[in-house]
Amino acid sequence: MADPTDFQFDLPPDRHWPPVPLAERIHKNAWAAADGCASLRGAAPQETVRAIVIHATAGAATAGAVSVMEAGRASFHWIVPGKDEKAHGVHVWATCPERLAAWHVRRSCSHPDICAGENNLNRSSLGIEIVNRQNGADPFSDWQIEAAADIVRYVAGKYPNLAHVVSHARLDPTRRTDPGVNFPWAEFKAMVLN
Ligand SMILES: [Zn+2]
Repeated sequence: MADPTDFQFDLPPDRHWPPVPLAERIHKNAWAAADGCASLRGAAPQETVRAIVIHATAGAATAGAVSVMEAGRASFHWIVPGKDEKAHGVHVWATCPERLAAWHVRRSCSHPDICAGENNLNRSSLGIEIVNRQNGADPFSDWQIEAAADIVRYVAGKYPNLAHVVSHARLDPTRRTDPGVNFPWAEFKAMVLN
C-alpha cells in the first residue's frame, strides 16, 4: 500500500513550461477570509515559492474547508471540489492570493530540500486542498487528480524556483496522513511531468 509520507517528486529545473491558463474561479468567501488566516511572505512569490503541498480535506465538501478559513484557523491557495459538487469537472476554486503565505503546514515543520532545515514552510510554498473524506472508502475522481496536476503545471510555469511537489504527510509525518493512501501519487506525478 502506498505510504503518503513518501509522496514527493521534483520538477525539472531546466523546464521551459509556458504559463498555462487554469480553470479556476475565485471563491469569494474564502478570498475575503484570507487576510485573517494567511501571512505576508518574506519576499515576492516569484523568489520564495519552492514547493507545492498536496492536501486532502478529510471532509465532504468545499464549504467545510472554507469554514476553517472563515474561522481564521488555517488556509490554502486552491481547493479541488468533491464529486458531488457543482464545480466538479468544471473548475477549481482559488481561495487565497498566491502573494500570501497560506497557513497549510504546521509552523514547526521543516524539510531539508525546501527551506534548508528552517521552519515556516508556508512562506516558501503553495497549498492545494482536495475534497476527500479520507476514510479509506472515498476514491478520488480522475478529474480531481487532473485538476490538481493542472494547478501544479500552472504554478510550475509561473514560479521558476518551484522545485518540489510534496504531500502534507511528508512534511508532518507524525501528525498528518493526507492526501492519504487512496491518492494515486504515481499517476498524478506522471500527469504533471508528461
Ligand atoms: Zn493537510
